[in-house]
Amino acid sequence: MSEHANIIARFGLRAPTSCYPATLAGLQGYLDELADGAGLHVTAKEVATPYHPEIAEKLYATPFLIPGSESIAIVDGDAAMTSWDFERFAAIWALLLPFRREDGRPLSVINWFRPDSYNAHPRVDGAKRSDHLTADAIDVGIRDASHRKALAKYLAQYRKDEELQLSLGVYTTRIHVGIRSPAGARVWGPNKREVA
Ligand SMILES: [Zn+2]
Repeated sequence: MSEHANIIARFGLRAPTSCYPATLAGLQGYLDELADGAGLHVTAKEVATPYHPEIAEKLYATPFLIPGSESIAIVDGDAAMTSWDFERFAAIWALLLPFRREDGRPLSVINWFRPDSYNAHPRVDGAKRSDHLTADAIDVGIRDASHRKALAKYLAQYRKDEELQLSLGVYTTRIHVGIRSPAGARVWGPNKREVA
């Protein structure tokens, strides 16, 4: 099993083994297999829609940013990404889902995968070594300070976990949650003390 599949299993889900195309329908099929009849509380559309869908549409002729997408590969030459990278989302969501189920309040996905041209766009202004370039992080939208503190407290228990190698950016209305990204484990943001 891959490192990400191990993490998915650790948090009570099973990594899909079927091959899915790098399309919105393919991502939804993957999520359905991951859910295995239970509620995931997220849809492919939400996962694949970035913060600026109009910029994605302009660059790639699709508002949905999905690893392995043909129209993205044509523009960015991002041939290294494939639909197997859906596992990177699944591992992060598997970590978040127990909190989501216990807490009850919705968690929204603000960003997941950000290909090169989109990430570098002046209005997106993503970091040069952003975890999102490799689909290794999700920006999770939270409702208010109490919701943020509850999620931060949940994540804090895994902060030094060797297997997860978490990267956590704690902002006011969102938390960046990355697993095993190339830049490695780290913590930042105006509310970083909440995950200490
Ligand atoms: Zn982020």
